[in-house]
Amino acid sequence: MQRQFDKLRASELYCPRCGTARPVRERLLLVLPQGELYEYRCAMCGESLGTREMRMPQTPAVTAGGGAKRPRIHGKPFIGGGDGT
Ligand SMILES: [Zn+2]
Repeated sequence: MQRQFDKLRASELYCPRCGTARPVRERLLLVLPQGELYEYRCAMCGESLGTREMRMPQTPAVTAGGGAKRPRIHGKPFIGGGDGT
């Protein structure tokens, strides 16, 4: 048996209406400019148990011609050789 905690995620919360810990349902409550607000509801009775704000990583502005990988020609620059006299 393997027990793992995936992230810091509340899978069960105490529900005052049920009087015991219940599995919760995550529900998108609000979309904020910087993220999303989720609401936890009791999966049994639907009581609201709390909210959580999920911050979104700021998406970088589109840079024009920034990070395109260019194939680089590898080689020595031609410097005029002096082999003639
Ligand atoms: Zn409940």
